Amino acid sequence: MIPKAELHCHIEGAVSPTFAREMASRHNVDLEPVLDGDRYRRQNFIGFLASYDIVANLLRERADFERLAYEHYSALAGQNALYAEIFASPAHAEAVGLSPQDYLEGLADGIERAGAEHGIEGRIIVTGVRHLGPDAVSEAAKIGVECGLDSVTGFGMAGNEMVGRPGDYAEAFDIARDGGLRLTCHAGEWVGPDGIEETLDLLKVERLGHGVRAAESDDLMRRIAEENIVLEVCPASNISLGVYESLDAHPLRKLIAAGCRITLNSDDPPHFQTSLENEYRIGRQSFGLSDNELRASTRTAIEAAFVDGDTRARLLERLDESA
Ligand SMILES: [Zn+2]
Repeated sequence: MIPKAELHCHIEGAVSPTFAREMASRHNVDLEPVLDGDRYRRQNFIGFLASYDIVANLLRERADFERLAYEHYSALAGQNALYAEIFASPAHAEAVGLSPQDYLEGLADGIERAGAEHGIEGRIIVTGVRHLGPDAVSEAAKIGVECGLDSVTGFGMAGNEMVGRPGDYAEAFDIARDGGLRLTCHAGEWVGPDGIEETLDLLKVERLGHGVRAAESDDLMRRIAEENIVLEVCPASNISLGVYESLDAHPLRKLIAAGCRITLNSDDPPHFQTSLENEYRIGRQSFGLSDNELRASTRTAIEAAFVDGDTRARLLERLDESA
């Protein structure tokens, strides 16, 4: 099995239907709008965001997040993932009355337990929710900077990309950068090249969540290639939410041909009936990526990972050894 690494997965989006049902019965919540049998319902983007919140609100204790991270990383290790980052949103914890510190510590403990058992390495990207507005996103950045956890190494922004302009959130990214966090941001999933350019210019991120709509501008693809910006591409998510009609219409190949550095990611895996392994399968079957190209995307993910130099060297060594 090809060694894998993942940079783009929202941890509350990784709650399995089984886990969601268990928590829903504990808290007496109706999951009919979200689940169809043992699968998440297919939704448009706004419907998906609502489902995401319903499921996220089922997890309320530090122990729930420890278990979630443990199960997520254990499953990834079973897919031969060497490394994975997760997006964690303190606003979701606060919505259920859990302190952001307990939330992040629970996740960190789960990552550590899975790492001790399976050898997988993990880091947390504290994430602001764009549609909650600039103040809430700045607050998330402060939490990330002040939490003092070794496994929190990055800051990002997710949520509804149609709300506000990237520049509205510059303060949050300044706080995170000044506090020593590495930066990524969702851009170029729902908005086109303008939104991506503004994100690069004003938020000064080194990676883009999705970024696929850069394919609409040759100039922008050239810039992304030249500036070594890494794209966190999530093919199954893009099809499930209707960013593209089909994998045939997806620009992954075009981005690679233009010299953009890409990685493969599952985004919110059970919501899109996918997994990291499935994204690599899509890479092979639908985009015709060779084993070498798939390994190259793992290498890119490790090179762009928000880890220290020693950890990166160790992960690259493991990747090379598995050849
Ligand atoms: Zn995402």
